[in-house]
Amino acid sequence: MGPPGAGKGTQAKVIAERLSIPAVSTGDIFRANVSAETELGLEAKRYMDAGDYVPDEVTNAMVRDRIAEDDAAQGFLLDGYPRTLAQVEELDGMIKFTGHRLDAVVCLTVDQDEIVSRLLQRAQVEGRADDTEDVIRRRQELYVEQTEPLIEVYQQRGIVVEVDGMGEVTEVTNRIFEALDVLPES
Ligand code: AMP
Repeated sequence: MGPPGAGKGTQAKVIAERLSIPAVSTGDIFRANVSAETELGLEAKRYMDAGDYVPDEVTNAMVRDRIAEDDAAQGFLLDGYPRTLAQVEELDGMIKFTGHRLDAVVCLTVDQDEIVSRLLQRAQVEGRADDTEDVIRRRQELYVEQTEPLIEVYQQRGIVVEVDGMGEVTEVTNRIFEALDVLPES
């Protein structure tokens, strides 16, 4: 977890690869559907372009299907999910059903100035439609209102691992593995 621009996607890919588990990124799945112009993509796009959250029912159903796939049987890393309290509850139900458990919730902390500059840089490199200034602001607001409170929910369960997300990608990756106290596979 962490605000937009904290480096979740970047770290999720590296960590998942080293742990030999899939990174399940709801943002990436939505973007792939938008590109392929699927029905899901057309629905999600309206919300994404405005920086709003895609409705819980749509997002939950998508995650439910994804984590039921064979490659997730041994475990998975979620990136960008859950983002709302309703998603936390749904996820609890889903993993109870699949027999998984949440080992840890990694929270990346970054300062606001760094986030804005990262997002503006990403806008140039990736050309994401939701990296304009207004939409960035909207996404940050939504994060504070709806997603940040989830950290406390997971803190109460004792599974939150806070990691300083500032600095080089590899530095942050090393901090995450240290904090998780697991050995990367390579
Ligand atoms: P991300 O790549 O994680 O920043 O996600 C990009 C956009 O996809 C978000 O701004 C939302 O519009 C949508 N999205 C991704 N994950 C979720 C989620 N868990 N719940 C609702 N909307 C989501």
